[in-house]
Amino acid sequence: MEIKVAKHAGFCFGVKKAIEIAEEVAQKNKEKTYVYGQLVHNEQVIKDLEGKGIVFVENINEIPENSVTVLRAHGEPGTTYSILGQKSIVRGKNLNDATCPLVTLVHNVAIKLKNSGYEVILFGKRNHPEAIGTSYHLKGKDTFIVEKPEQAGMAADYISKNNFEKVAIISQTTMSVYGYKMLIDNINSKLGNDKFEEIPLSLKDLTKKYGYVDTICNPTKQRQSDTDEIAKDSEIVIVIGGKNSSNSKELYAKCRELGVESYFIQSGQQLQKEWFKGKEKIGVTAGASTPDYLINEVVEKIREITS
Ligand code: SF4
Repeated sequence: MEIKVAKHAGFCFGVKKAIEIAEEVAQKNKEKTYVYGQLVHNEQVIKDLEGKGIVFVENINEIPENSVTVLRAHGEPGTTYSILGQKSIVRGKNLNDATCPLVTLVHNVAIKLKNSGYEVILFGKRNHPEAIGTSYHLKGKDTFIVEKPEQAGMAADYISKNNFEKVAIISQTTMSVYGYKMLIDNINSKLGNDKFEEIPLSLKDLTKKYGYVDTICNPTKQRQSDTDEIAKDSEIVIVIGGKNSSNSKELYAKCRELGVESYFIQSGQQLQKEWFKGKEKIGVTAGASTPDYLINEVVEKIREITS
């Protein structure tokens, strides 16, 4: 029996950095350290950090005035900074911002497109913190968000009915590369003569009437292409990731699309012996919010229950 682990699996650099920042800050701080929202979408990592004295709050009002605070990698809307500012929680003093630079890049793309006259549509998950943060730079709650390629008709109607001068589509960093391509193709098939063409990330040429920018981050792309490779060469794939992890769910969806028997788990305890009966080639992959120790634990558990 062979167990293959995807080359790029587990923590991406943005998540690693956010955890390092939170741990460092908590270690130096004698009082409680607050983190607004789930620092990473992984229940086990959150539990470990709670054990180190970090308090996670879902409601910003629960953060007391003047407290040491860390903001997660997903990026926050400007309102978060203003509310924290009113509580004397500011950068350079007690606010530690772990927003991933690749999310900031998407914010900057959104702002530049908007300022250049584009109506910007976002391909993302409506309730995901990153999508909320990016929408803030566009039309806030009124930002047009498309969650899946099957909603292309809705997007095409929105574009046609509003007669926008220019329209651009951008993506949340953790969406499916294949799904994004399918969305653009589907929209194009429903439009008249004007089609969406790629605008390079440099945004040097913003003259296109309809354009899309590839803002899916490279770590997400690497995890998706490695999972693709593993899935094509395995009889069963175990995908490890937090229940709320957008990029882990995309990896699981990819395996299912490819027709390989696959299971989405949060820990080794969920593995079941019968899944592996008669299987010789086992693939393991993990989303960007899964720690290495969890991947190793799952691999060990598979060896144990199949031996
Ligand atoms: S998934 Fe991409 S954008 Fe998100 S934290 Fe990781 S590297 Fe940054």
